[in-house]
Amino acid sequence: MSILVTDRLQRPLHDLRVSVTDRCNFRCPYCMPAEIFGHDYEFMPRDEILRFEEILRVLRATVPLGVRKLRITGGEPLLRKDLHRLIRGAREIQGLEDIALTTNGTLLERTAVSLRQAGLSRLTVSLDSVDAEVFSVMNGHRLSLERVLEGIQAAESAGFQRIKINCVVQKGVNDHTMVDLAKHFRGSGHIVRFIEYMDVGTRNGWKLDEVLTAEEMLTRLQKEIPLEPIESNYTGEVARRYRYTDGSGEIGLITSVSKPFCGDCSRARLTTDGRLVTCLFAKGGTDLRTLLRSGGSDEALRDRIADIWSARTDRYSEERTQMSESDQIQYAEQNSRVEMYEVGG
Ligand code: SAM
Ligand code: SF4
Ligand code: SF4
Repeated sequence: MSILVTDRLQRPLHDLRVSVTDRCNFRCPYCMPAEIFGHDYEFMPRDEILRFEEILRVLRATVPLGVRKLRITGGEPLLRKDLHRLIRGAREIQGLEDIALTTNGTLLERTAVSLRQAGLSRLTVSLDSVDAEVFSVMNGHRLSLERVLEGIQAAESAGFQRIKINCVVQKGVNDHTMVDLAKHFRGSGHIVRFIEYMDVGTRNGWKLDEVLTAEEMLTRLQKEIPLEPIESNYTGEVARRYRYTDGSGEIGLITSVSKPFCGDCSRARLTTDGRLVTCLFAKGGTDLRTLLRSGGSDEALRDRIADIWSARTDRYSEERTQMSESDQIQYAEQNSRVEMYEVGG
């Protein structure tokens, strides 16, 4: 039975993002800075992490409420053992139309075929630069650029097309390599998406002057490669699309900071330990794991999620545009927030 829900601002629930692990083999300073996530950092114990069957139960409960898209993320989702089993389980859920995965690409070489065979529809690979040194700075000096490029090749061979390549642009760190990244993938069929550096979480020391706005990115790109705007694919698409005027492909710009898109935000997020989070800037989310593990019925789970979504009023990024920078910093200091690796972007 379908009982579609909308929140208090009339936004439907359409996407579910699931973070399947809080661990990662990178230490991108803008997400999991190495000074904080060092050798002695205690990641979540195994028994706190949702099992695949529990994730699938949540998914089955959200599809009647309107969810059509699942995005698997993390942490680094390919560190989760046998991830293809989750994808295969999700594939069997009637009404779920699309299963996507966001990964740093380092483990794709050995997993791409099984992901494809399990029914993964789409792939996003995060890659912040094709300059090996800049890439190394952006991932906290972990694995090599080569390894990610090989991963992308393996994904192509496994049959993934139009792979999205996500690049977070941090002014003064990797912005000077943006054009090279675009050129690298031009003509490949893959779509590079440049993302404004966001103030998610409380651990990355975010500063507004490290944000290169999408407008500034476009100006830089257009100096070297002629681009023209194109229509979005669907309502709620977060990337502004541009195509190369010679027909050699397209890019996207994600304006999360300069022009937020809260009005169309139809995403819920499920943390590794089973909290439902209704905004990237939410405090901590609502625990679903207790209900899942205490014999709660599927109907009770569905009703709980419907109640959470119906009460939702989040529109932090829009509110932020009305705050001064000092108000934003004060707000961040006074309010605990979920971290990016907990909700997966
Ligand atoms: N580890 C995987 C990866 O990097 O693709 C999946 C999880 S990661 C948290 C998901 C996405 O969030 C990545 O594309 C990453 O670049 C992006 N991200 C992380 N921190 C960010 C920030 N502060 N601002 C903008 N994007 C960010
Ligand atoms: Fe890991 Fe992705 Fe965060 Fe980088 S952005 S530290 S790869 S979870
Ligand atoms: Fe959605 Fe919250 Fe981001 Fe606005 S700030 S787009 S409501 S996640």
